[in-house]
Amino acid sequence: MEQYKDYMLRAVAAEAQIRAFAVTARDLTETARRAHNTSPIATAALGRAMSGALMMAEMLKGPRDLLTLQIDGDGPLQGLVVTADNHGHVKGYVRNPAVILPPNASGHLNVGGAIGKGTLTVIRDMNLKDPYIGQIPLVTGEIAEDLTAYYAQSEQIPSAVGLGVLMNKENTVRRAGGFVVQLMPFAEETVIARLEENIRKISSVTSILEEENTPEHLLKTVLAGFDVQITSEEDVSFSCNCSKERFERGLLLLGKEELESIIREGKEIDLTCQFCSSTYRFSLEEIRGILEKISTSS
Ligand code: ZN
Repeated sequence: MEQYKDYMLRAVAAEAQIRAFAVTARDLTETARRAHNTSPIATAALGRAMSGALMMAEMLKGPRDLLTLQIDGDGPLQGLVVTADNHGHVKGYVRNPAVILPPNASGHLNVGGAIGKGTLTVIRDMNLKDPYIGQIPLVTGEIAEDLTAYYAQSEQIPSAVGLGVLMNKENTVRRAGGFVVQLMPFAEETVIARLEENIRKISSVTSILEEENTPEHLLKTVLAGFDVQITSEEDVSFSCNCSKERFERGLLLLGKEELESIIREGKEIDLTCQFCSSTYRFSLEEIRGILEKISTSS
């Protein structure tokens, strides 16, 4: 079993005029990198999106609620999808994991260039028939700025989002994580001004994590000068809920003719989960069994 050291904090500051979230995500981003064999840019995009989704999902209320971030862009990454629950589990993939681009003007991984122009869609699935869906045009494709814009435009919550992934020379993940800070409607001007000043001073999330690799240190830096009260702490991990049974249900939906043609071809089939790259093999015997289930139920 993978031993995770990543965790997430939830906090309030300035007598609850500010609410804040911070997460470290090195281990879960490294797990995703290995599962999907992602290039450094793809790893950065995925790690940022997963860190953001974990904190956004933490705001959901119901135990079975899910939050999905879907980015569709015209860049070579072709977008990504990540889904998190509010128990600290996240899964996700980029559509083209092999993208390699030169660094951007500031010498960093060019995530914005890999994503390109497009849309950010936030889906909050609250176990109701219709999920809540918000969509905005991408601002920079760097993900943190796009999530900030989403909160401003779709939810009218003034927020600051910082996300970062730093790679080692041998292309493993060195640091990953982020923060979300939100102002409550009754926040006073002095609180807003100080928070803006703090945010302005931050050069990058990964430089803070290089000083000390904890969500506490992220919060302490972003909320410097405020009284900060941590209200919850939760372990976070890359975790997928796929199973062979789920894929069997998918095969059932293919229908009789399709399954008969698979059997005629005489080859077992391998189905791969998009979210975690786990592969499930179905033998001809098993496919025949599924076909029988259809035949007996119709
Ligand atoms: Zn899976």
